[in-house]
Amino acid sequence: MKVCSSCNSAFDGENWRCPECFSQPDVIDGRLSFAPSLAKESEGFEADYFSRLAKQEAGNFWFRSRNRLLIWALRRYFPAAETFLEIGCGTGFVLSGVKEALPSLALSGSEIFSEGLGFAAQRLPGVDLFQMDARRIPFREEFDVIGAFDVLEHVKQDEEVLSQMYQAVRKGGGILITVPHHPFLWSDSDDFARHVRRYKWRELSNKVGNAGFEILRITSFVSLLLPFMLLSRYKQRLRSKPFDPAAEFDISSSINTALERVLDGERALIRAGLSFPAGGSLLLIGRRN
Ligand SMILES: [Zn+2]
Repeated sequence: MKVCSSCNSAFDGENWRCPECFSQPDVIDGRLSFAPSLAKESEGFEADYFSRLAKQEAGNFWFRSRNRLLIWALRRYFPAAETFLEIGCGTGFVLSGVKEALPSLALSGSEIFSEGLGFAAQRLPGVDLFQMDARRIPFREEFDVIGAFDVLEHVKQDEEVLSQMYQAVRKGGGILITVPHHPFLWSDSDDFARHVRRYKWRELSNKVGNAGFEILRITSFVSLLLPFMLLSRYKQRLRSKPFDPAAEFDISSSINTALERVLDGERALIRAGLSFPAGGSLLLIGRRN
């Protein structure tokens, strides 16, 4: 079901015109916009953030490994899913991976910033893309699975987002979430990315449980690379020159390949049922019963 952004009534049908108050969402850059006042604001993001990100994702071990982990989790925990919404789809890198691996899944993607959607649209013909504020999701029991990958840590009202995800997902469906793990790993990269927090295991599981979800699985990942992360945090603190956000991606292709192999091995352990207590990120899979 759709939910009217003006009067909050829920309704069915192809058309977005509300049968109660006759209002309908704006259209910006050819796409539905449910929170137009926020669409062009980039809340602290650098202007060229999305174009830089789009270039970096495709080759980078971290993004590539995360995609494989997410696709595995989708298949393993939601084999019957027919519809999938990604909140905060950015440039569409995750959705393009899901589209390739699971071509029968009907995909939707949302972003608060319409600039990211422009990149996503080039990559994702046939995917329903729209602009919205995750604190006000205009759907009720609509999607089989909703994903938010490294999104919640950007939002002050993360619990509001989780309860909106609960409303928007169908009974028997669920959520896939990734967030940065461990407050003690906070670094300049978190400041640069405008993170509000990094999560403790307990904080994430409590918030997801309070929203109504049953937690099917929670594990840290990028765990085997934790020693390297600690070393690079330490070096960041020692350096005297200003923080260079690009430096994080500035690794040789042989190191990139080696790190990707380590994370391939780690994923095999997660698939076999091992849950890591510590690591760079947390993966959570929850179900709405
Ligand atoms: Zn209405």
